[in-house]
Amino acid sequence: MKITNPLASGMGPADYFTGVVVVDSVRNPDEFSGIGCAHVRFTPGARTAWHKHPKGQTLYVTDGIGYVCQRGGMVREIRAGDVIFTDPGEEHWHGATRDHFMSHIAMHEADADGKTVVWLEHVTDAEYGNI
Ligand code: MN
Repeated sequence: MKITNPLASGMGPADYFTGVVVVDSVRNPDEFSGIGCAHVRFTPGARTAWHKHPKGQTLYVTDGIGYVCQRGGMVREIRAGDVIFTDPGEEHWHGATRDHFMSHIAMHEADADGKTVVWLEHVTDAEYGNI
């Protein structure tokens, strides 16, 4: 057994997120396992850019009220306790609602190139408001 707390909380970079997002890495893929996991906290109005995961992604909402949206679909509300699975290659985004925080645990697996995510363009205000 090993208990560590080596990584400082990081701000979600502006290239990949809109608004204030704090990312705590739980584990990064390494030579033992391709599993990546992070605790991600979105302040009201904050969200990811559009993106996709080569091996899919599981989200477990731990707090608050948020949104998830797949390309071509409507924005859907998510709440603490919800589990969301996005298929490999499915373009989507996730984030908080306008007036609530939302936190989730994100779990995903690296592909043969070590990639867990492919980032695309930012989510516009019009797309964010497409409820
Ligand atoms: Mn995702």
